[in-house]
Amino acid sequence: MTPQSSNLVHALSFDIEDWFHIVEVKAVENPDLWPDLHAKSSLVERYTDLILEICARHNTRATFFILGWVAERHPAMVARIAAAGHEIGTHSYWHRKVYELTPQTFREDMQRSIDVIEAASGTRIAGFRAPSFSITAGTEWAFDVIADLGLLYDASLFPAKRGHGGYACPQGPHHHAAPSGRRIPELPMSIAPVGYGPLKKRMCFSGGGYMRLLPLSLIEQGIAAEAAESRPTVIYLHPRDFAPDCPKVSMPPHRYFKCYVGTSTTARKLDALLERHRFDTCRTVLENHFGTLAPLIEEHAA
Ligand SMILES: [Zn+2]
Repeated sequence: MTPQSSNLVHALSFDIEDWFHIVEVKAVENPDLWPDLHAKSSLVERYTDLILEICARHNTRATFFILGWVAERHPAMVARIAAAGHEIGTHSYWHRKVYELTPQTFREDMQRSIDVIEAASGTRIAGFRAPSFSITAGTEWAFDVIADLGLLYDASLFPAKRGHGGYACPQGPHHHAAPSGRRIPELPMSIAPVGYGPLKKRMCFSGGGYMRLLPLSLIEQGIAAEAAESRPTVIYLHPRDFAPDCPKVSMPPHRYFKCYVGTSTTARKLDALLERHRFDTCRTVLENHFGTLAPLIEEHAA
């Protein structure tokens, strides 16, 4: 651990959805298929319990951005996460990409997810992470919907190019201006230069397929690079990232690799990172940066 990293509290987050909520995979993208897949092969509860065990082992709190569709079917699991002292956030209801929705359909989806998750957890939700980090240029109206619904922060921006999304924004905690002028606290995904020599590349290193694929030494390199800029690292993982027995469906080879590589390494890597660094919820990391969280009204010059 570098001296810079030891002074920082990093953000640990999990997007709680089932294995078949992977986007743009024909075999599973129709929600009409989900009840049957859920009955036959759901893994969300089993691997969320593993995540809870790992967090408990290190006495670490995390943010669980839960899919409303999952919360409705696993209310006892949602209650267990809340009872363990973790932060509960929303990951939407239907796992649709924000840039494919209208402001109205996004609002309805979000309200449904908030109602279901708050009922199951008995807590108020403050934070949102979009499916596939899908707030992109042109969908900034999502920030106004988030503020209108009473949420206090967003964690959906991915400040680099990616398959489904990506958004040019500052790195680290900052305020994002919504079209109405309100400024919403934002905790974007961590991006840092990772690798050696000519292979060094600015990339995501601390979540999903990137974290399954990269060796621990390169994940540490990314954390150190962010810490040198006084920025906390954000980890994001899904239950399926821990699941070597995740059901396999057909998809293009590059997606197949990225979906399934390294699942047997995730728990060990997370254990090592939680041993070496301090982590807490997304909300705590933002509060450490900003103080109390509230959408700010833009000051206009008189
Ligand atoms: Zn997701």
